[in-house]
Amino acid sequence: MRGHAVALAQLTRALERGTLHHAMLFVGPKGVGKATVARALARALHCPIAPGRGCGACPTCHRIDTDRHAGLEWIVPEAPGGKIKVEAARELATRLLLAPFEGDAHVVVLDPAEAITDQAFNAMLKTLEEPRPGVYFVLVASALDGLLPTILSRCATVRFGRLQDDDVAVALDAALAQRTDAAEIPAARRLLAIRLADGSPGAACDLALDPTLDATHALLREAATAANRGPAAIFAGEASPLSTAWATATAGPPTGKPARERQAVMRTTELWLLDLRERLRGRDGIPEVAALPGDREQWTRATDTLLELQTRLERNANARLAFEAALLELWSDDRAGA
Ligand SMILES: [Zn+2]
Repeated sequence: MRGHAVALAQLTRALERGTLHHAMLFVGPKGVGKATVARALARALHCPIAPGRGCGACPTCHRIDTDRHAGLEWIVPEAPGGKIKVEAARELATRLLLAPFEGDAHVVVLDPAEAITDQAFNAMLKTLEEPRPGVYFVLVASALDGLLPTILSRCATVRFGRLQDDDVAVALDAALAQRTDAAEIPAARRLLAIRLADGSPGAACDLALDPTLDATHALLREAATAANRGPAAIFAGEASPLSTAWATATAGPPTGKPARERQAVMRTTELWLLDLRERLRGRDGIPEVAALPGDREQWTRATDTLLELQTRLERNANARLAFEAALLELWSDDRAGA
């Protein structure tokens, strides 16, 4: 619920004034909590303890939170990535016209709005334009482009921005606390997940639960150290820290090894680019990763070197050779400016 001050204030004000639009379009990056706010809206409309806000603790709020309240329904594609089809829209339109509601309000969340077909939207257009009193539509979308113009013209837009890292951390911890498989997440991975998620708690959660992130982090740590020390560390042989980290990050069956190596280098490079971007912004880099020596100009050159490495990987270069060449280049760049 944090980080959405503007969107929440907009909805709360509308609720207080009784001007809540009956068709709303929640627009913002994936995973920032649009669905969470839709649920909060249902609580605010139904809660008998704190009308207009939702207490979050009463049986009504609890049932909304656990999807056992009929006053909040989700219309989603039958399969992930599929469409919201005309049959579902027709059924919804008929039901909203005739069926009794639980409570005075009924919130229908269509997620994602991009999945609604032309026919499906037409089938529920009348209901969406002039619904029965108490019916609120929430259409969830990650961007405005790609939506039907008819949707845009009929909905009030509520914008969601990316969250600050602090807010992502709070949302991530809350999400992890509800999972039974989340007990073993190392602190370094949690921190990395927050930094990499770019303002999206959903993305942070996926990253935090991904154990391969540890190996990527370890490989970056050793690569940064080697790039600081030079050829002796970059080509130190199979027992060196860099080679050990490489072996762990690329471990797996012989088949698919080249692709796995490219992916490992690609992910390590992405992490390194994030590290440099943060340092260029005057913030801390990735935890435990040595900074490349030098000034901003050299860090900008290092960024170019890593982007060039990514291009080589996309062209199917040998991942290990390309990686070592980039480390050598990063090292000699350091020397050039030192
Ligand atoms: Zn309540």
